Amino acid sequence: MNAIPILPNYINGHWCASNTTEYLEVFNPATAELLAQVPLSTVSELNQAAEAAAAAFITWRRTPPTERVQYLFKLKNLLEEHFQDLARTITQECGKTLAESQGEMRRAIENVEVACGIPMMMQGTNSEDIAKGIDEMMIRQPLGVAAVICPFNFPGMIPFWFLPYAIACGNTYIVKPSEKVPLTMQKIFQLLEKTGLPKGVVNLVNGAKEVVDAILEHPKIRAISFVGSTPVAKYIYSRGAANGKRVQCQGGAKNPIIVLPDADIEMTTRIAADSAFGCAGQRCLAASIAVTVGEARHIFTEAIAETAKKRVVGNGLDQGVEMGPVITTQSKARIEELIQKGADEGANLLVDGRNPNIANYKNGNFIRPTILQNVEPAGEIARTEIFGPVLSLIHLDSIDDAIALVNSGQYGNMACLFTSSGAAARKFRYEAQAGNIGINIGVAAPMAFFPFSGWKESFFGDLHGQSNHAVEFFTQTKVIVERWPSQWSRQF
Ligand code: NAD
Repeated sequence: MNAIPILPNYINGHWCASNTTEYLEVFNPATAELLAQVPLSTVSELNQAAEAAAAAFITWRRTPPTERVQYLFKLKNLLEEHFQDLARTITQECGKTLAESQGEMRRAIENVEVACGIPMMMQGTNSEDIAKGIDEMMIRQPLGVAAVICPFNFPGMIPFWFLPYAIACGNTYIVKPSEKVPLTMQKIFQLLEKTGLPKGVVNLVNGAKEVVDAILEHPKIRAISFVGSTPVAKYIYSRGAANGKRVQCQGGAKNPIIVLPDADIEMTTRIAADSAFGCAGQRCLAASIAVTVGEARHIFTEAIAETAKKRVVGNGLDQGVEMGPVITTQSKARIEELIQKGADEGANLLVDGRNPNIANYKNGNFIRPTILQNVEPAGEIARTEIFGPVLSLIHLDSIDDAIALVNSGQYGNMACLFTSSGAAARKFRYEAQAGNIGINIGVAAPMAFFPFSGWKESFFGDLHGQSNHAVEFFTQTKVIVERWPSQWSRQF
């Protein structure tokens, strides 16, 4: 039997065992196989990483951006070379299908590609003659040490919404992966090491709340990015800001999709099912509520129920599987309780995915696609983030009612409309209170060259991840006003 690996941290260019006495076990959610033990690293280890990053910053910020991005070009090639292995690792620890893991790694790589444009993206601006003989310019300088705190659902992609931009802009960096899925970042840091980045520029500290709190307190950490649930996002945003740090926190979601009677129902059903049940619903852009308007009600309800029942559930590494397990046994129990809560609130359990019988994977955390019909819009099930493969159906009479429902929610991560009407699409785009909008799209995930634009309780901060927002987040502006009187200079 193979020994279960105990995962090291990567601090100041060295792989080092944690000095903690506490570890968590990391399981494959499909097979319940024990994959690794992850250390709950200590405050002193986070402090070492922050000091190493602060020391590395002195020379890293003086390295020209054109040289800094050479490491990203190398990283891009290494990520391509190890693409399949990284995707398999994501599936093993996170449960999603191999195709979903490949999609995740593709988006990670796209962020590296965009960040390779930093020499141009971080350019400043200037104005000649703001007054006679006086010029003014604005330049961008890096902040120093920055850190990211990650959720479990995209172990390969989410750190890349931040890390490539942070280091290309001249900052040094600390990654705190989710303690539930720490293996993918181990592999990615092995590749970061291979790029030859100077020691201390990137650091990996495994752990949970103790490490997060140490990040929030460390005086040399200037900026924090967080992605995870809304209660933790609020905590990190307020405590980080109180300590004078720049903070951006992406939180939870409860994404509605609206189906108008003029939508292409076949296409809409396929896309809606992928949105609700892809990644087993553990996606911050998953559709959680489908609102049918007018005559869309019966035809969509029938079609989505059929599609949900047919979805092939199993180990994401097996051929033909369309949906994997949820992350932990606790998560499965929580989702099943919420399904029951929906039924208790009066919804009709049209498709019940509880207690599935998945051949060969009796110990996996499986729930099949579930559909609750006639969900009470003001009830708990229509308001709570479920983060599992559960779609709630609500029927309303008009697009105005549907938009009012979208806008009444606590979250604002994504909202989608399915229609063949340009006017309806424009109205929705204009009025819906969500930062990522899909029109005949089920998962409106912004490309790396657009900001990931959550609103309301899905985002706390001003500047989002990815693209030029990331460049602004990871730099501070400096404005210089200059006068060079000719009598002070030698004349030629
Ligand atoms: P989580 O909030 O439980 O954990 C996220 C991170 O916070 C982890 O690294 C964890 O160690 C740390 N953490 C957890 N509790 C903490 C505490 N009390 N104090 C300090 N740190 C703490 O989230 P999760 O379950 O890993 O991820 C799922 C959530 O993430 C969902 O709510 C989902 O919507 C959200 N999410 C949002 C986005 C987005 O872009 N808005 C993207 C992905 C996931």
